[in-house]
Amino acid sequence: QIQRALRSLSIPLERLHIMKGHMMQDMCKGLSRQTHAQAKVRMLPTYICSTPNGTEKGNFLVVELCQNQVRTLLVTLYGDGNMSPQMMYKIFTMPEGILQSEGEALFDFIAQCVSQFLAETVSPDTTGTELYLPLGFVFPFTCQQTQLDKAELLSWSKGFNCSGVVGKDVVQLLQSAIDKQDKQGQQDKQEGEANGAGWLSSLKGRKSSQSTPGKPYHVEVVALMNDTVGTMMTCSMEGRPCEVAIVADKGSNCCFMAEAYLVETAEETSGRMCVNTEWGCFGDDGALNDVFTPYDVSVDEESYNPGEKRFEKMVGTLYLGEIVRHALIALTAEKAIFTGTDAAVLKEKGVFTMQHVLDIVNNEDGITEVQRILEALGLQPSERDCGRVQQICRAVMGRAATLHATGLAAILSYMCQTRDLETLMVNVGVEGELYAGYPRFEEILLSVSRLLSPECMPTLLASRDGSGRGAAMVTAVALRLAAQRRAVNEVLAPLRLSRADLEKVQALMREEMDKGLGKETNPSASVRMLPTYVSHTPDGTERGDFLALDLGGTNFRVLVVRVTEDGITMASEIYVIPVAVMQGTGEELFDHIIDCIIDFQTKQKLVTQMLPLGFTFSFPCQQVGLDKALLLTWTKGFSASGCVGQDVVQLLRDAAKRKRHLGMDVVALVNDTVGTMMACGYDDPKCEIGLIVGTGTNACYMEEMRNVGTVEGDQGRMCINMEWGAFGDNGCLDHLFTHFDQVVDETTINPGKQRFEKLISGMYLGEIVRQILLVMTEKELLFQGKPCPKLQTKDIFKTKFLSTIELSNGLALRQIRAILNELELDASFEDSVLMREVCQTVSLRAAQLCAAGLAAVVEKMRENRGLDQLSVTVGVDGTLYKLHPCFSNNLQKTLKDLAPNCNVTFLLSEDGSGKGAALVAAVASRAANAME
Ligand code: ADP
Ligand code: MG
Repeated sequence: QIQRALRSLSIPLERLHIMKGHMMQDMCKGLSRQTHAQAKVRMLPTYICSTPNGTEKGNFLVVELCQNQVRTLLVTLYGDGNMSPQMMYKIFTMPEGILQSEGEALFDFIAQCVSQFLAETVSPDTTGTELYLPLGFVFPFTCQQTQLDKAELLSWSKGFNCSGVVGKDVVQLLQSAIDKQDKQGQQDKQEGEANGAGWLSSLKGRKSSQSTPGKPYHVEVVALMNDTVGTMMTCSMEGRPCEVAIVADKGSNCCFMAEAYLVETAEETSGRMCVNTEWGCFGDDGALNDVFTPYDVSVDEESYNPGEKRFEKMVGTLYLGEIVRHALIALTAEKAIFTGTDAAVLKEKGVFTMQHVLDIVNNEDGITEVQRILEALGLQPSERDCGRVQQICRAVMGRAATLHATGLAAILSYMCQTRDLETLMVNVGVEGELYAGYPRFEEILLSVSRLLSPECMPTLLASRDGSGRGAAMVTAVALRLAAQRRAVNEVLAPLRLSRADLEKVQALMREEMDKGLGKETNPSASVRMLPTYVSHTPDGTERGDFLALDLGGTNFRVLVVRVTEDGITMASEIYVIPVAVMQGTGEELFDHIIDCIIDFQTKQKLVTQMLPLGFTFSFPCQQVGLDKALLLTWTKGFSASGCVGQDVVQLLRDAAKRKRHLGMDVVALVNDTVGTMMACGYDDPKCEIGLIVGTGTNACYMEEMRNVGTVEGDQGRMCINMEWGAFGDNGCLDHLFTHFDQVVDETTINPGKQRFEKLISGMYLGEIVRQILLVMTEKELLFQGKPCPKLQTKDIFKTKFLSTIELSNGLALRQIRAILNELELDASFEDSVLMREVCQTVSLRAAQLCAAGLAAVVEKMRENRGLDQLSVTVGVDGTLYKLHPCFSNNLQKTLKDLAPNCNVTFLLSEDGSGKGAALVAAVASRAANAME
């Protein structure tokens, strides 16, 4: 019988595995918006989004409501890693009957405790300024929390039953009681000083001999929390973050830092939030039925809440003595123990206390102590009885520890999975009677959780007075975060654009466009509005084989583009332009290009034909005809002599003549924006705008000839290459530039130039972010102010990092860690959350500004055509637009907002510079044929 009883109390490993799985399922259920109402493991959000980092400082007041007591505590932190907080306690015993009285009486009593405690510890400030005392309220009842300082009581427990509190915000109730108390205190203020220089007075610095006694302090309730959370926060002191806490006490509970986006019941989505699991209710849906023993069933039936808190009733110290008692009753009935003696005393509920169990279990050698205990209870045990009772006690305690370990394993595995980690190293704060009193608890907790979650490596930290000190930490962290938030907002505010800001940019862009188009005003415009001599977009009837060149992008390429009834096919080859050629003479450069073309045509067996050629030439040119364009300046490392001011098409034709190459006919020089528009235009006839957001940014669109003052003629349309990257170079955007933009601009090779582009494009966004990170580090908002030498390097923060970091919901955690490693940044989790906010701010601004520019374009086109509603497509190219996770969405959303009368579709261009150049050539031949 004894063996059977012991067996029933020991749970096999595979059963623990299943239980762990159930617990994890329940946790997910409790976090999900749809299912949380039915979940047994409640997973309550706590709105505590950070653990202490050691920089917290100041005075913090704590009020803790315990069984029959109100505890008050004043903690002073020095910002020294919380190594030596100063603390003062006072414990007040609650008056008889108050637990069942009106809520107001309870809160008034708490407020009185606070007031009396402060009167004894805080001397009135003789300077007359009142001391601000933030208060953390430890309220160990189930609450529906909606903010750190807003929590509705759901139900009383633990013998409390004050009227008029359930359903109310208990933070508000406490604050009102304190304010009321303060007012009374004002009226009959006296003494206080009699208690001498309270130790706080020394912290307040300057003292004046003139006493102007006012209200010495102002108490504000800033945080409410459960005791489990306090344990976690306490263990986070002394510089190590602690992200899990277990309270193994009368009841049992656990909390941990969850990814905030998974806590669907709270609004917060970035960073982490502490979740109070309330795991005591695990099993209330029957999940534990097959491990319940008859003793557990009896304990449950005799409790005040049968059927509830099933897990807690197997592991809480309130119940362990009872489980033992019921086991002993059963064994006595089976005549396995206490045979022939009177064991009636066991019938009395509660005779067998936790302390008895602990004393018996911890009595490793010798039965005498066990015998003494049992005899004191009124039993007459034989020596064998003593041994058996000890075995039962050990089994019950061991099971409690094992079940805690199973719960812990579920939490750890869940954290490991949701953080996308292969192994999880984490500190676990532990507190409570079971942990403190049962020496094997720690060993079992570690070994069993290790078996169940081998991928996790918890380190247990003993919490000393978790709830009290922890509450001070929660309060301190809340204030630190609030201060940090204000400082972060201050840094980022200039980068956040209002709708009015964007409307202004749109209006300015429109003004500059008009100036750029006007013959007289063109020289003063920052947007050059270059005519391209492209007057038609493709209509789908273009046919033939074309050559295309792409010079000025990342690679030099030669292409053949075949436009047939069945669509477009292309073949291409990348050629290298040696630096010596890029920087030699113009003749050498263009001779080299012709050599590449000849090689390509030979390979493609195209030497015998004379093919029309479109030339994508991504350098600034003054175009004077479709096939005539004067190079304004070289960029991107090119410096071939004798080219600036020359017609680039002619230079190419001259080289062909020198090489006696007759297989090509240069018909058009094409800007890459135009190529993009044309390439998309082939698939969508409504495509009349081209946009590039890559290394740089630029746009083109179809303008009415009558508006193009810089070209003769009023008929039809012409594509205008806006060169909008230079928007603002005349100072019209100066009001938008932040300190960060100034610094970035100053370190470029073209300071003062391409100002709009420097707010938007891939070459600069990473740099802007880097500058912000540097300033934030300096302000100690990041990396705890530790300098980051690598971050000083120009261009080390790549724009593609923004894409990775901004990928939402922590899905890119692994990649983010890789970036942090690459930058040698010692970033905490919160640092990476803040970095993400910086990236989001910078890329959002870029997308919005781009949208404001586009809004000016589409609105102008709509006006040009006298339409109420314009439907138009934008052909887009550029890696930033294509790969950034939010840029295109933000761009489109803002554009819709700024230009509500335009219905704008975006079409990604594939190889605009190749296909587009060929299509310009094709459209030109089509137009020429039509003329003939
Ligand atoms: P180009 O404009 O020279 O033709 P791209 O369109 O490919 O070239 O754009 C290159 C730019 O795209 C680079 O400046 C880089 O900053 C940016 N970029 C590269 N990868 C990404 C990415 N994953 N997310 C955002 N931007 C990127
Ligand atoms: Mg490009």
